[in-house]
Amino acid sequence: MKRKGILLVVSGPSGAGKGTVCKELLNRNDNIDLSISVTTREPRPGEIDGVSYYFTEKDDFKKKIDEEAFLEYAEVYGNFYGTPKEKVFEKLESGRDVLLEIDIQGALKVKKIYKDGVFIFIVPPSMQELKSRLELRGTETRESMINRFESAYREINFVFSYDYVVVNDEVDLATNKLEAIIEAEKCRVHREKNFIEGL
Ligand code: 5GP
Repeated sequence: MKRKGILLVVSGPSGAGKGTVCKELLNRNDNIDLSISVTTREPRPGEIDGVSYYFTEKDDFKKKIDEEAFLEYAEVYGNFYGTPKEKVFEKLESGRDVLLEIDIQGALKVKKIYKDGVFIFIVPPSMQELKSRLELRGTETRESMINRFESAYREINFVFSYDYVVVNDEVDLATNKLEAIIEAEKCRVHREKNFIEGL
């Protein structure tokens, strides 16, 4: 019998570099699919609809909430973000691993609904480094950057609700750690139950 895919939920404060680490993880692993979220946020330069996000209007987002189309959704920095439910479960059932790169509120909701998920929190090597990364990124207004930095301080405390913490000092090394976590998770007895029973 086919092994079900693993639901990987990755969060971390803005500037921890989770986007870069997740991208590297996806580049290295053909069996992991990124779940593309729906958002009411405006696209940033270079972001393509259907690749970075599905960009949508608030009314349409609300309609999707009513239709229970989301596994979870949350308001983050004044915009709505949601994970399309059906695609995630279809992929998991077909044996593909699915990566959700979502905020803490969303991750906590998923944890309640889907206990079998693997919850990973990415942190920067220091708060000073996080600040420099946010400044370097240059995609935010000054106000939004300060807002994100202050949020980061609060958010770090939520690490204790996760299964793993990965310090992102260097993208390659942080990605290695993510791969090690996935490998270990695949060896967990409850995931290999069907295989063991068939021995
Ligand atoms: P950004 O606007 O920088 O792309 O994302 C802002 C925050 O929203 C990030 O922490 C990102 O992980 C989170 N996010 C992206 N998609 C989703 C989603 O579908 N659900 C939730 N809860 N958060 C999301």
